[in-house]
Amino acid sequence: MIRRAIYPGSFDPVTNGHLDVIDRARKLFDEVIVAVAHNDQKQPLFSLEERLQLLRDTLGNLDHVEIAPLDGLLVDFAVARQATAVIRGLRAVSDFEFEFQMALMNRKLEATVETIFLMPKEEYTYLSSRIVKEIARLGGNIAEFVPPRVAEAFRSKLAK
Ligand code: ADP
Repeated sequence: MIRRAIYPGSFDPVTNGHLDVIDRARKLFDEVIVAVAHNDQKQPLFSLEERLQLLRDTLGNLDHVEIAPLDGLLVDFAVARQATAVIRGLRAVSDFEFEFQMALMNRKLEATVETIFLMPKEEYTYLSSRIVKEIARLGGNIAEFVPPRVAEAFRSKLAK
């Protein structure tokens, strides 16, 4: 049996923290599906297609990693793709409450899917897409927080 996990998120845009989590997940599972949520409520800076493309450009053809849009309920997607686990990153205690609620609700909706939390390298614990967007918007240097392709995408987006 193939062990497959889903790593869902907004990825608006993908950061080095996300990449760290993907790397760790790859060591635990045969296949990792990075699932990008539409997230209209969050009014993303990058469109769904742009976020998918940035992930594709960054991860290239990394073995055993698939990038897919996520529509509908996460647990339904997990069952449809025969995934047994959902991966989430935990940075700090502040992530915990929301993640705990989501994990237990997802378990209630679908008992066969387990949520697994992975902690990134310490230097990524203060990194989020939101803070990177804020720094970029104010003209700061984000090169050490995101993959090169994402830094480039910020430059063209903010030049518009
Ligand atoms: P969401 O909108 O679902 O929170 P994000 O793209 O912000 O989507 O995050 C997706 C997942 O990646 C979440 O579990 C989040 O906690 C995790 N994550 C984001 N940034 C980091 C980071 N720097 N280190 C570890 N995990 C992270």
